[in-house]
Parts: sequence; structure tokens; C-alpha cells
Amino acid sequence: MAFTPLNVERKEQIFPTLTESQLQRISRFGTRRTVKDGEILFRQGDEGTHFFVILQGELDVVQPHGETETLIVRHQPGNFTGETAMLSGRRALATGRFRGDGEVVDIPPSGLRNLIVTDAELSELLMRAFILRRVALINNHFGDAVVVGSHHCARTQALREFLERNAHPYTYLDVEQDEGARALVERFQIGPQDIPVLICRGTKVLKVPTNEEVAECLGFNAGIVCSAVRDVVVVGAGPAGLSAAVYAASEGLDVLVLETNAPGGQAGYSAKIENYLGFPTGISGQALAGRAFTQAQKFGAEVAIASKAARLDCSGRPYAIELEGGHRIRARSVVIASGAEYRKLDLANLARFENAGVFYGAMFLDKKLLEGAEVVVVGGGNSAGQAAVYLSGIAAHVHMLVRAGGLADSMSRYLIRRIEESPKITLRTRTEIVGLSGSTELERVRWRNGATGETEERPIRHVFCMMGASPCTRWLEGCVALDDKGFVKTGQDLTHEDLASTDWTLSRPPLLLETSRPGIFAVGDVRSGNVKRVASAVGEGSICIQLVHRVLSGVSSGA
Ligand SMILES: Cc1cc2nc3c(=O)[nH]c(=O)nc-3n(C[C@H](O)[C@H](O)[C@H](O)COP(=O)(O)OP(=O)(O)OC[C@H]3O[C@@H](n4cnc5c(N)ncnc54)[C@H](O)[C@@H]3O)c2cc1C
Repeated sequence: MAFTPLNVERKEQIFPTLTESQLQRISRFGTRRTVKDGEILFRQGDEGTHFFVILQGELDVVQPHGETETLIVRHQPGNFTGETAMLSGRRALATGRFRGDGEVVDIPPSGLRNLIVTDAELSELLMRAFILRRVALINNHFGDAVVVGSHHCARTQALREFLERNAHPYTYLDVEQDEGARALVERFQIGPQDIPVLICRGTKVLKVPTNEEVAECLGFNAGIVCSAVRDVVVVGAGPAGLSAAVYAASEGLDVLVLETNAPGGQAGYSAKIENYLGFPTGISGQALAGRAFTQAQKFGAEVAIASKAARLDCSGRPYAIELEGGHRIRARSVVIASGAEYRKLDLANLARFENAGVFYGAMFLDKKLLEGAEVVVVGGGNSAGQAAVYLSGIAAHVHMLVRAGGLADSMSRYLIRRIEESPKITLRTRTEIVGLSGSTELERVRWRNGATGETEERPIRHVFCMMGASPCTRWLEGCVALDDKGFVKTGQDLTHEDLASTDWTLSRPPLLLETSRPGIFAVGDVRSGNVKRVASAVGEGSICIQLVHRVLSGVSSGA
């Protein structure tokens, strides 16, 4: 059995010992070779790391810190290396060094992929171990990233959220609270204006980094080639986009997903999704997204993080998607799964307080900051209801502000009951925020009751805005027909005028979920008429891949 000093549960699933018959099957995907005492099999930061099964001897997996290192796990014969980074070809988070002479099965990334696709029993065992190992690394703060920041700083909050939503393990040091942070501030000459700082692999220091710089430094997109023409490019890695990616990749299509931020989309902000089929006790959006992301990678889908589609070029085929930052990705077919984003409060000084008191999700905020505090949730839909219920378990009190006269029209009944029955939630109907104030971060909130005209100001430092969403369709630039609210029209909803306006020249009408451009589909919340639910996003993502096959094979008349 492997030895680990990590605080982990389910050790036998995280570090299983393979049976003789499993070892024989796995050996067919690589080569047996001898290894010497002290030999490094992989280093932290390596791309395209091989997968190793230990036959004789021991392998130490360590986290290096300059001249010293910390042991993460000591593998024994029958154990194997790897965690989720191995599926995507991302950089290794740790270093593996052999103890004593021994023997391993050495399997390249392509062999690992074949193994996972062809051997169901080993696939389940490896996938479970990889996922649980990543969770253990996150929980134990092992990895290749250190964030130095301040809990008062909005950009620190945004950086931590980006790493957490991408399930990347990191250590956080707060300049106002941690001794270790002060030492790093001196060593790397970090001034107040440089915060937050990301230190990658103990060497590279990024001051106030953008998401693109973080993704680059930590190798989130390692191995993704931009020049290839893809069968299908999916824009957006929410439930709809990830579903399309899973079905496309598992059915043999070459698929690339582009994602501005992190897998999971809006669902990633949900504390608990309770109405998605198959999860009777509910599942957090982040857990659902993490599973879907790993599943897509298991089948070979590539997901480019911090890669925002800035423009769709539909002037010829293959289509091209221009990314913010300049790359151009070509695609035989495109799936628009860019979803929607929350509407913003109509207040002149809003930008000053975004991430510094005004948030668009509650899941990634340090719970300690909310303990004993009063908070505000704005909005009357299911997402606002979930947030209010979730926050009422942490904060001292939740003020729920809605413009309408009640919740009945906009929220599921089970959430309304929980809100009504909670002594820690006050529902304020016909009420809107009219003022935010504070110096560097939010300190006070003022609201007004539209029915009575009364205003009230309270010392509140956290406002969660969940007021309905606008479609993310700016990047489409007139390529496809939109409805009057900016959602993408598809299939039978397209009128003759819509088709004429985008020069539809085929003899066949658009397929279900196809836009007014042949081979460009729209799924999930971004689609006009879609039911805004995880289940419908996932369903549409899977259905559209059947239609992509038809278009790519030219079977549909007039393809
Ligand atoms: C807090 C919350 C709780 C919810 N709870 C539930 C629930 O309990 N049950 C339920 O059924 N539904 C729930 N919903 C609704 C559900 O999450 C959405 O219907 C679902 O996420 C829609 O999926 P989607 O993939 O279509 O879009 P989204 O989830 O919006 O994902 C779109 C993705 O596209 C990316 N993107 C946007 N523009 C670009 C671009 N130009 N380039 C690259 N990427 C881009 C975004 O970053 C995002 O990741 C909830 C929503 C929220 C916010």
C-alpha cells in the first residue's frame, strides 16, 4: 500500500494496488523498463508526462520548494502515478523520483488514452483515483502555485476564484495575516500595488496577473494546437458546451472547447442543484462541472481556458473564431454555447465595488468573511433563492431584494418554502438598491421600497446580484439571426427574413438547433426559447452533436 502523509480519506481508492491480472492488461499499453535509484521520472512543470506503474522498487512523488521538498506519496509495487492533469496533458504538479533500483511499465499519454477508452474496469479505477488525488491536492494545498494577496483586495478574490473554479490546487498567503507572506513579500520585492501575486513553481512571479497570464504560467492549455482545422469548435464550457464536448469526443470528432473563464458556466456558481436527474441529494455546480470536464477530457476533448472568442468569421468555410489575444481557430462546424451572464445593478459607482463587496456568485467567497455579517441577495429567480438559502447557513442575516411583488412567478416552490420558513432571511418585495458606498470596498447599502417610497441604509459589506441574465452573443457580430432580446434563433423559429438576412443558400431548411448559418448550432441558455435549466442545456448539447454529424457527412440534402 502506498504511504502518504496527506490527510486523505478513501486511501485504498486514491492509491489502489493493481492485481496481477490488471498489471498484465496495463502492460500491453506501454513498455517495461528498469529504473535506477534516484532517477527522475517526471518533474514539476513537465508537459506530456508519461504514466508509470511500479513493478519493483518505490517511487517518491514530492513537491519541491527551492532546495527542499515535501513528500506527497511513496508508491509501492502495484501502484501507479498520475492525477487529472495527465488526461489533458497539462503540466505535472509534482516531481517523481525513484528509490532504489527497480522496474516500471512506462506508458506514453496516447497509450494511457487508449487504455482508458478500451478497458472499462481499469478506466473506472484510474479515473476515480485521478479525481480523488486532485481533490486531495486541493484540500492539502499541494501544487505548483502560491497566491500572495489580501482579503480586502478585489483582484485577489478574482484570482482565487479563477483557480478554484479551474480546480487548480494552490497555497494562499494573506499579507495581513500570514508570517510566510511577509517573507515572500520581502524576497520577491512585492509592493502593495503588485497584489495579488502568483508564484508559479516557486520561480516565476506574476504581479496582478490576468487570467490569460495565469493560464499560461500554470500550463492550463499546454499541448493545444491552434492551427488545426477542427471538426467542431464549441464556444463556452458551461453544461451545454461540456455536454457537446463529451458526446462529440466520445463519437470520434475532433473537438476544441473555448472558455473565457472556467468550466461550469453559471451552474458552477450553484451551491446545490437539486433538480438535476440522478442526484436525489443534490450536487454542487462546481462538482458537476468538475466531473463533466474530466469526462470530456477522458474522451479526448480539448478545453482551452481563459480563451475568449472575440469574433466569429463566417465569411467562408471552414469558419474561423478569433480569440482575444489574436489566435484564429478554424472549424468545420461551430456550437454556440456561450450562455448568459447576470445583469448588473444600474448604479454609477458599481464598477468600484465589483469583487470588492458586489459579487455575482456566493460559492467562491471565503466563508469566514460572511460569518456574523448581514448580506444582501438581489433577484427573485431560482439562482437567487439558492444563494439566499446557502448564505443563510453562514451569514447572520440575509436581506432578499426583489423588484416584483413576490416570488411565486419566478422561483421553484421548494425554494420559496425554505425562504419563507427561514428566520434568517427577510424577503423585501418591490425593493431596489439605490446606493452603494465605501472607501476601498463596500461598507454601506441603501435600498428603496417602490411601493412606499421609504429608503433604508444598512452597514452591509456583501451584495450578491442574481437578477436574470443577458445572452453572451456580442462575439457573433451579425453572423447569425438573433431574437429581439439578443438570444440566438434556431430551427423552426427562423423566418424567411432571418434566413435571407444571413444569406442561407441551401435547399434544405435549418436543422433543429441549427442557426441561420449552415453548420453553426446554438445550445443552452444562449438559444432563443431555451428552458434555462442544467438539464435542458445538457440535453441540447448532446442532441446537437447528432446534427453536427449530419452536416459534416453532408447527408442532409443540400448540406
Ligand atoms: C447560481 C445559479 C444557480 C442555478 N441553479 C440551477 C438549478 O438548481 N437547476 C437548474 O436546472 N439550473 C440552475 N441554474 C441555471 C443553469 O445553471 C443554467 O441554465 C445553465 O448553466 C446553462 O448552461 P449553458 O452551458 O447554456 O450556459 P452557461 O452556464 O452560461 O455557460 C456558458 C459558458 O460560456 C462561456 N462564454 C461566454 N462567452 C464566451 C466567449 N465569447 N468565449 C468563450 N467562452 C464564453 C462562459 O464563461 C460560460 O462558462 C442556476 C444558475 C445559477 C447562476
